[in-house]
Amino acid sequence: MRVLKFGGSSLADADRFLRAADIIANNAKQEEVAVVLSAPGKTTNKLVAIIESAMRDGEAELQVEQLEGEFHQLFNNIKAALPNIDGTDFSEKVRQSMSSLRSFVHGITLLSMCPDNINARIISKGERISIQLMKAVMEAKGLNAFLIDPVSYLVAKGDYLEAAVDVDASTKKFRQAPLPENHVCIMPGFTAGNAKQELVCLGRNGSDYSAAVLAACLRADCCEIWTDVDGVYNCDPRLVKEARLLKSLSYQEAMELSYFGASVMHPKTIAPIAQFQIPCLIKNSFNPQGAGTLIGQDTGEDQLEIKGITTLSNLTMVNVSGPGMKGMVGMASRVFSTMSSHGVSIVLITQSSSEYSISFCIEAEHKAQAQFALSEEFELELKDGLLEPVDFIDDLAIISLVGDGMRTTCGIASQFFNSLAEVHVNIIAIAQGSSERAISAVIPESKISEAVKTCHENFFNSKHYLDVFVVGVGGVGGELIDQIHRQQEKLAQKGTIIRVCGLANSQGLLLDSEGLELEHWRDQLKNVTEEFSLARLIALVQRNHIINPVLVDCTSSDEIASQYAEFLAAGFHVVTPNKKANTGSMAYYQQLREVARQSRRKLMYETTVGAGLPVIENLQNLIAAGDELEQFHGILSGSLSFIFGKLDEGLTLSQATLLAKDKGFTEPDPRDDLSGMDVARKLLILARESGLSLELSDVVVEPALPPGFDASGSVEEFIARLPEADAYVSELSAQAAEQGKVLRYVGEISDGKCYVRIAMVDENDPMYKVKEGENALAFYSRYYQPIPLVLRGYGAGTEVTAAGVFSDVMRTLGWKLGV
Ligand code: ADP
Ligand code: ASP
Ligand code: MG
Repeated sequence: MRVLKFGGSSLADADRFLRAADIIANNAKQEEVAVVLSAPGKTTNKLVAIIESAMRDGEAELQVEQLEGEFHQLFNNIKAALPNIDGTDFSEKVRQSMSSLRSFVHGITLLSMCPDNINARIISKGERISIQLMKAVMEAKGLNAFLIDPVSYLVAKGDYLEAAVDVDASTKKFRQAPLPENHVCIMPGFTAGNAKQELVCLGRNGSDYSAAVLAACLRADCCEIWTDVDGVYNCDPRLVKEARLLKSLSYQEAMELSYFGASVMHPKTIAPIAQFQIPCLIKNSFNPQGAGTLIGQDTGEDQLEIKGITTLSNLTMVNVSGPGMKGMVGMASRVFSTMSSHGVSIVLITQSSSEYSISFCIEAEHKAQAQFALSEEFELELKDGLLEPVDFIDDLAIISLVGDGMRTTCGIASQFFNSLAEVHVNIIAIAQGSSERAISAVIPESKISEAVKTCHENFFNSKHYLDVFVVGVGGVGGELIDQIHRQQEKLAQKGTIIRVCGLANSQGLLLDSEGLELEHWRDQLKNVTEEFSLARLIALVQRNHIINPVLVDCTSSDEIASQYAEFLAAGFHVVTPNKKANTGSMAYYQQLREVARQSRRKLMYETTVGAGLPVIENLQNLIAAGDELEQFHGILSGSLSFIFGKLDEGLTLSQATLLAKDKGFTEPDPRDDLSGMDVARKLLILARESGLSLELSDVVVEPALPPGFDASGSVEEFIARLPEADAYVSELSAQAAEQGKVLRYVGEISDGKCYVRIAMVDENDPMYKVKEGENALAFYSRYYQPIPLVLRGYGAGTEVTAAGVFSDVMRTLGWKLGV
């Protein structure tokens, strides 16, 4: 004997109803089956709404009429596919059921209240419609059907809306009146009968439990729960796209998962089947071929430490605290028994070891009852100040990790809490059951999605998402987007999904939280009108619960740089080749690092010095290992490296500058290079990185032009005047040559000071041979002397810079990529 249960989602329309019927019929051909049905689709919610409308004197009559219409429509649609179906009994059942509903509505409207026994009879009407319809369908398919009345078979105790079934007593009933053979036996889910033979409900979503108790009473070989997903996933597939289907679960794991929110089965389902060791299969009625998830005695095939991540929302935390709590015997028992006597169920409990307070979570809808119950129970203690006013924290949720393997594995809790911190989730309370099979954290409800996504990424090593927003799509930014486009597929194969979710330039902003299609991004950007705004990006990230947003600033804008702190605080990593932020005031420099630390986000700027060369990273590594920078010499500008290299070959400064400009090696205005300010900024970044606290104005800058040279006017005027500088530079060049030296435009750090100037270097100097746009950086440190650590290579160019930015973007994932 197998018990098959079909949920509301599997009966929501004619097509689904008939699929369920096919599954039943196919099974019935092979062995005896008993079937448990939910109400079609959202019928129960509609019935609940009708009661509420009737109490408020709303539109209940109209809602009843609509519901009745839906039942007839469902039948008619089934008949269209199954013309020989006989609808006589069904129509009569709907008529009776709706007529009794109308009478109830009338009474509720008069009384403005609905007693629980009537409530139970109303909200369970959908199940009875389902079984009547399924009986007609079975008969049309040539099968015999028998309807089981749970009120007479399932013996229940408890209140009308939340009763529990006594399996032993119910088993006896089935033995006294055995089900007929060669019949598909169909039972409505969600209800049972109490000692007075009155109908009682088993709690919302209770049809799973009905199926479990039926399977237990009949000692079935298997209990199958047919729903709208392929089985139990390691987290709610609606929250995480990559949720993985579990092949198997132990009863205990299934119990914890469902208790902590895996709504695929009701928490009460497990106990009856576990008691008789009946295997339970969760299957998809839309995909009957799928293997489903098997719940059984042991953890089964999926040998995972963590089986699943679940969430429960709409919770309120109650804190009872006060000096009178310490040592007061029976405090906890009074708190909890008053909750229970007022019908408030407790979802999770934590108690501080000081015994100064007890905190627990309840469903938000029970807050008023809890408030009332506690103020009544502790009236005296509250008056005497032994207890502080009870504190309620709203809008909370619980995220839990569940798995048998957790008991024997270290470090799960720390990884859990670290993951939550990564996405800036503030943990309000924690609890671990004594079974060590579940660990839970109470967190703000608004952060549920981020919390689940990041835990799923970290615990299941599933795909990592990097969602990139590029501001400034000129040279480097544009090249970066093209490089990302080319690499996307390869990275995806290795499990990193990199998406460009936003592009912005001075004309506008293009956004797509699912990632822009990058084939034609240039054309798309031409047509946008929306302006770049920090608020828009932050809103998009928050609305879509993006957990790894990366802002890439490829502009040279002060304005964008001044917003990094806000981006970091809002959860973005910031990657930038823009030197403005790191060369702004020392106060802002430090603020950025502090915000990044607090929000656990990364600020990456490898390409601000030496483009793609690994300068910052190496310097940081040296300093982190306890080395100290004593001196630095370097050629930090690609354009000035080229220009000064050409002087060696006998070109004048103006000739060399023009050549560099023609080749595109200079800024559009060559004064930006010749002024030395670009080098000064890079030098300041290195100085600060090595621990010096300096402002840009502290850098002594001698431009690559004669002292007093008039560098004013337009670019053309300046270029026309530039030959006037030649004599001075040629003279210096000649002096250098006399000493066997060459001129180089260098940045230097010595004795804690920074200088940018033309220097004469001899052939022993690492700068001597550096030309053609190369950069060279010589670090003289405690460990690297007298021979310095030298980094040398192309320090400019769109491609290498973009590649450097790309590598910074990847490094924001940090340890997740094993770096
Ligand atoms: P039914 O109508 O069949 O009773 P439910 O809506 O009660 O279906 O339960 C199925 C739903 O449970 C799925 O559609 C899914 O969105 C949700 N769900 C939540 N957590 C999980 C999980 N861990 N695994 C599978 N489904 C889950
Ligand atoms: N129809 C009931 C509900 O929606 C029971 C169930 O489907 O499990 O709560
Ligand atoms: Mg359900």
